[in-house]
Amino acid sequence: METTKCLIIGGGPAGYTAGIYASRADMKPILIEGPQPGGQLTITTEVENFPGYPKGMSGPAIMDDIREQSLRCGTDMRSGMVTEVDFSKRPFRCVVDDTDEYMADTVIIATGATARWLGLESERTYRGFGVSACATCDGNFFRGRDVAVVGGGDTALEEATYLAKLCNKVYLVHRRDEFRASKAMQQRVFDTPNIEVVWNSIPTEIVGEKRGFMKAVTGLAVTDKNSGENRTLPVDGVFVAIGHTPVTELFAGQIELDPQGYIVTKPDSTATSVDGVFAAGDVQDPQFRQAITAAASGCKAAIEAERFLIQ
Ligand code: NDP
Repeated sequence: METTKCLIIGGGPAGYTAGIYASRADMKPILIEGPQPGGQLTITTEVENFPGYPKGMSGPAIMDDIREQSLRCGTDMRSGMVTEVDFSKRPFRCVVDDTDEYMADTVIIATGATARWLGLESERTYRGFGVSACATCDGNFFRGRDVAVVGGGDTALEEATYLAKLCNKVYLVHRRDEFRASKAMQQRVFDTPNIEVVWNSIPTEIVGEKRGFMKAVTGLAVTDKNSGENRTLPVDGVFVAIGHTPVTELFAGQIELDPQGYIVTKPDSTATSVDGVFAAGDVQDPQFRQAITAAASGCKAAIEAERFLIQ
């Protein structure tokens, strides 16, 4: 068993930044990185809106920099998954990979959010065989071919423009007749000749076939909401970009969550419903969900944890 003044759960912009501040406050934080060190920025392409990179920078490179900075400040990084927590009394008990026990005076939760799926059975069948939630990771497999992207937010439009550079044609399938993405992103899509927007359309099935031991996607079946017409878009890949779900299953029943599963924090604070437990980043932010806002809330969480210990 190990003890620490501050245990940080999650290695994204929020967790790493909390590590920077907690280390500098001499809290000797231990950070458990989780299954996707670096968080969601590691599956994005060019990032133009993170301050300090005037020419833009790839998401993974930004995360490498923040992680390195956190390490250099003294954050003790460990790989592993937190599998159990007990916030009923202090020090708080957290178990990593079902075996390693940590007792922490304060906990900062920065577990982020994960990609949402359509929920079709065929989507599960072809996940990894033509169905993906990450264009940066898998786009290269579809060079020169036709693909579909599902969604109407910034992620979907960003993925569509990224794929349009690699692929022959990109169908952008959206369930409504207007995008929720930023106007700048929309303009980029409308200006890209090999993106065809398929409005008012609901994906109903990923169509595919078995090829020996392999499986391959051959189309995306969609239904037009207005006309009821069914059609199958002839694509080799389907990229699902319909938002994210906060990673909070582990904390249900221990701290207050909102109806969508996001951790509820006090106004202008990262404090949760349990004194000494703080939440930072996308796990408590359904609204902004930016790397920079996540990093900022990681900073706040560490400062609040330090103040809590002093009190
Ligand atoms: P959003 O929640 O913004 O968008 C999700 C999209 O998926 C919506 O268009 C939604 O449709 C659609 N959708 C949801 N569920 C389904 C479903 N079951 N079937 C079909 N379509 C569905 O998520 P994003 O990941 O796009 O963005 C998250 C946040 O991150 C946003 O705040 C965004 O601005 C930000 N972001 C910023 C970027 C940047 O600044 N560079 C890049 C990427 C994201 P509907 O519109 O009808 O609800």
